[in-house]
Amino acid sequence: MARKTEQEKIEMENAMEEIAEIVEKCVECGLCKALCPVFKTMLNELVSPRGKAIALKHKAYHELIYKCTLCMACKQKCPLHLDLPHALRKARQVLALSGKELKANKDMLKNIEKYGNAIGKPGEKPEKLFCC
Ligand code: SF4
Ligand code: SF4
Repeated sequence: MARKTEQEKIEMENAMEEIAEIVEKCVECGLCKALCPVFKTMLNELVSPRGKAIALKHKAYHELIYKCTLCMACKQKCPLHLDLPHALRKARQVLALSGKELKANKDMLKNIEKYGNAIGKPGEKPEKLFCC
């Protein structure tokens, strides 16, 4: 058990290093906002790619990092080609490893395991589950 915890600690540190390597290069120009579907829908700077990059620079790992479809549009638009979607995926890993994953996310995973779909609709569970 202690070994697993040590392994998790290493994974978390590695993930945080990867995140920092990406977001520390962000010059906060905001060019990535134009194509972000989440920003275009919510019209809130906090959920823009720049807002999330700034949050990650300050090691603010919380529900904000789930406000992203991982569509990669910000990476395409960024003049530095910063892989912010990868940083956001890693931040989700940090939350999960530190036991701070959102309840909604945990419920979704349970539903997928039990019913084969994210919303928990009873039905036939597929033989295999696939993930991107
Ligand atoms: S990957 Fe996330 S932050 Fe980047 S444009 Fe898509 S939704 Fe926005
Ligand atoms: S992620 Fe790229 S485009 Fe977006 S604010 Fe940072 S440097 Fe600018």
